[in-house]
Amino acid sequence: MELHIRGVSKTYANGVQALRDVTLTIPAGMYGLLGPNGAGKSTLMRTLATLQEPDTGTIHLGDVDVVAQKDAVRQTLGYLPQEFGVYPKVSAEELLGHFAILEGITARAARRSVVEALLRRVNLWDVRKQKLGGFSGGMRQRFGVAVALLGNPTLMIVDEPTAGLDPAERVRFLNLLSELGESSVVILSTHIVEDVSELCTRMAIIERGEILLEAEPLRAIDGLKGRIWRRVIERSALAGVEREHAVISTKLLAGRTVVHVYGDTLPAAGFEPVEPDLEDVYFSTMAGHHGRRHAQP
Ligand code: ADP
Repeated sequence: MELHIRGVSKTYANGVQALRDVTLTIPAGMYGLLGPNGAGKSTLMRTLATLQEPDTGTIHLGDVDVVAQKDAVRQTLGYLPQEFGVYPKVSAEELLGHFAILEGITARAARRSVVEALLRRVNLWDVRKQKLGGFSGGMRQRFGVAVALLGNPTLMIVDEPTAGLDPAERVRFLNLLSELGESSVVILSTHIVEDVSELCTRMAIIERGEILLEAEPLRAIDGLKGRIWRRVIERSALAGVEREHAVISTKLLAGRTVVHVYGDTLPAAGFEPVEPDLEDVYFSTMAGHHGRRHAQP
């Protein structure tokens, strides 16, 4: 199963162009869509989830035309939006049972066993009798995964899932997602680089509606070897360094400023080479040193 997105563009009524000629091929497995807030991730995720239509372009999931055959997509789609409402006074077990009925699992015994298997899988079995209103953010997200999994989706769309989760919840949630990505297409949209580096075998970087890079994270990191340089400076020296060098990121570390600079050779005395990571890929791509903008025609 592969998802093919070809030339997809979208401009909202207010004139904001949220997607510009997006073309991506997404194989089975975990795929990361990485970009800052406002980049167009949710617009693309909602379009894939058949909740809105592109102005131009085509989307195919295997043989299915996602724009024209919405019902066929919905039968095989699991969608976990950024935030979803739950009925606060209902227990996890009751609500999942209710969604199972909507999925057509009407026989009581079959429904019980499906609900039990899913609640165990997302590690909510022990709290199945608790009301959803008392669930933490992470528990709620895992409940969302259980709902999304009810239909055995071949396309699973997860939009900004880790925003607002504490570190332990985040790890638990990412582990759960990583089990899904074996036979189906799982797309994870996020602005958090670690979400992608920990989980995804393929990824794209999007900014202002445009795909800047489509890559395998490990290869993209390899491609930056020997090109990332680091220097620890005083904050007051930052403006000068930024004027003279291609600074891709700055970070505070124990009160001092660590700058990463892109360059084919040692930028200046005082810099040292660093092993690149996915954050360097992300920031150098956003700064225009890497990726499609930079590619030879
Ligand atoms: P992301 O998910 O990466 O944060 P979005 O797809 O939500 O990005 O938004 C992309 C751009 O489109 C932003 O500039 C946003 O303000 C705008 N946008 C999103 N939804 C709408 C809408 N329904 N109407 C008008 N503009 C929108």
